[in-house]
Amino acid sequence: MNFPIHKDEHGRWVHTWVRQSSIKTADMCMERLRNDIFGLVSAPNNDGADLGTACHSVVEDYINHNMQGFEMSLDDMYGALDYYWEIASQDVDNWYSYGDSVTAHMMGRNKLKSWYENVRPMIEDPIGVEVDFNKVLIEDDKRVVYLRGTVDLVESNVLWDWKFPKADYTKDRWQYDRWDVQSIAYTWAIGVPKFRYGVMHNKGFGTMEFERDESHYEWLRQKVASICRYVESQQGPYLLGDNGWWCSEKWCPAWTQCKGKKSPESEE
Ligand code: SF4
Repeated sequence: MNFPIHKDEHGRWVHTWVRQSSIKTADMCMERLRNDIFGLVSAPNNDGADLGTACHSVVEDYINHNMQGFEMSLDDMYGALDYYWEIASQDVDNWYSYGDSVTAHMMGRNKLKSWYENVRPMIEDPIGVEVDFNKVLIEDDKRVVYLRGTVDLVESNVLWDWKFPKADYTKDRWQYDRWDVQSIAYTWAIGVPKFRYGVMHNKGFGTMEFERDESHYEWLRQKVASICRYVESQQGPYLLGDNGWWCSEKWCPAWTQCKGKKSPESEE
């Protein structure tokens, strides 16, 4: 059984659930983290996330072909999007971001065009696509903590992550520079200190680049250790982090059994 936390033969806690996304979830709501890592609530499929996954698959195809000496045209990429989106759109539960499948598909084409014309020329030396890692971040006499993840593109001197959101959050670069977990986790795992986001939003594109070092990695260890100590010692429910957009009927799959139980709307 792949339980997210167990004890090894030395009596140490072993954590296998830690990903950059789970660290970000812990920042928002610890109870939501508990639901996620123990699989207590199933999350619906949202159109924004599913369109992003389809676009990721197309870009992955482009780079894999390119690394094998074949060039996909933009039309080829549109064809690949038709294929991936036809499959993914059938499983969408909520059309919160784009309203319907046709609109989402059109926005997907725009985002891929942005990537093809603006971000693709910045790629110089691709050596790995969708590179998985699973490394020990912390090991002492109390616990062993694995950090897992997947890097969208590894180049010899920079890592990339593709984002296909509605809004342009590269405007908030200073904030990402201060606390972004993904760039710290991924550069630590791969051993390449430079990390870039390619963000294809609804109105165009943007990039953000960060350089991370040992001071960031030491902070990541401290932060993750504090979450792990909490998970080891609490039975649940965990701390209820409701002070943000994520705590709503729309964005939290546990809403109806958590804050939604107490909200005025649910009393009707
Ligand atoms: S409803 Fe709010 S407080 Fe409850 S798990 Fe979801 S985000 Fe956390």
